[in-house]
Amino acid sequence: MGNKAYKFRLYPNKEQSVFLAKCFGCSRFVYNHFLRLTTDVYAKSKKSLRYKEWAKLLIELKSEFEWLKEVNSQALQQTLKDLESAVTRFFKKLGGFPNFKKKSNRQSFRVPQHFSIDEKGFLRLPKMTPIKMVIHREVLGTPKNVSISKTPSGKYYAAIVTEQDIPHAPLNGDKIGLDLGLKEFAITSKGEKFENPRYFQKSLRRLQIRQRRLSRKQKSSSNRNKSRLRVANIHEKVANQRQDYQHKISLKLTSENQRISAESLNIKGMVKNRKLAKQISDIAWGNFLTMLEYKGNIYGCEIYYVDRFFPSSKRCSNCGYIKEDLTLATREWECPECQHFWDRDINATLNLMLFCESKIPLEEGKSTPDQLVVRLGMNRNTGSGQEATSEA
Ligand SMILES: [Zn+2]
Repeated sequence: MGNKAYKFRLYPNKEQSVFLAKCFGCSRFVYNHFLRLTTDVYAKSKKSLRYKEWAKLLIELKSEFEWLKEVNSQALQQTLKDLESAVTRFFKKLGGFPNFKKKSNRQSFRVPQHFSIDEKGFLRLPKMTPIKMVIHREVLGTPKNVSISKTPSGKYYAAIVTEQDIPHAPLNGDKIGLDLGLKEFAITSKGEKFENPRYFQKSLRRLQIRQRRLSRKQKSSSNRNKSRLRVANIHEKVANQRQDYQHKISLKLTSENQRISAESLNIKGMVKNRKLAKQISDIAWGNFLTMLEYKGNIYGCEIYYVDRFFPSSKRCSNCGYIKEDLTLATREWECPECQHFWDRDINATLNLMLFCESKIPLEEGKSTPDQLVVRLGMNRNTGSGQEATSEA
């Protein structure tokens, strides 16, 4: 069994939009309130609060702020569960520290139960009249939850998650190494290369023109609002293109392979490099890895991250020779030991894969069986990151 999401456009009427705004607002308020509280408590006592404590405190919060009772209480609990997974990801070093939710960004809340699609195809949510929804594909499986969102350009969507039988990746499927880059978006140890489509870069000129026009419009005029929507629409289009592209690649990788070893990325650190920052946010690696992880869970493909200090480029994956003088500019090289001729990136992915395969038996006992996303570190006691290669 696995989960699958269906995303449909929603068309709420005026009254429904007002109520949805309330739901977004309450969810944002609760998320930010408990994120702040957790940060404060952690700073003082090094104790990290989690869902159990938050859920108790939420009851008190609701008697203090009566308006929280107007919205579906399960949606607020769900917000806390989402916060918990964000905090957990951070502590597992799989993600950055959770950000506060802003009103100007995409808004959302999730309803875990008591929702349905009526005979007219409208979406029924607790405490609301049915909302018009455009269903463009059949919803299969048992509905588990629905997320309602609103984009900065003012479009509403429902993402319905259902549970259904999904064929797992073949058990004798391939074990691959994966490298993410700027020139190519992704490269696998099987030699597949996926181009970097640079959607943002392509829309940059149009965006700059629109943004210039926006900046010349008078504050709070209706023309300014129109102009703001045009800018938001370009951003959304870019985000959608990127999302589609990443969905395709992550689906292909997780459904065809049994195990993927990727390098863990220090995206925040890389974005600090100002020359590359724009390109790196355009490529959205973090987003892609999240997709890879949840699709891995659906299709039964394990995702391993290897410490980023692992010197995957310099090592010949065929014989273990370390080419110390390998420069960043060298795209291809011949191993002086075994005369193997390498494409730099493919050699690196092969090293990642080999490193994982040698490490996994040692670490297996430490990972829980239902946890398919694992970080593999190197033995830090022996010092620098070099020792990973010398043992092979
Ligand atoms: Zn060699």
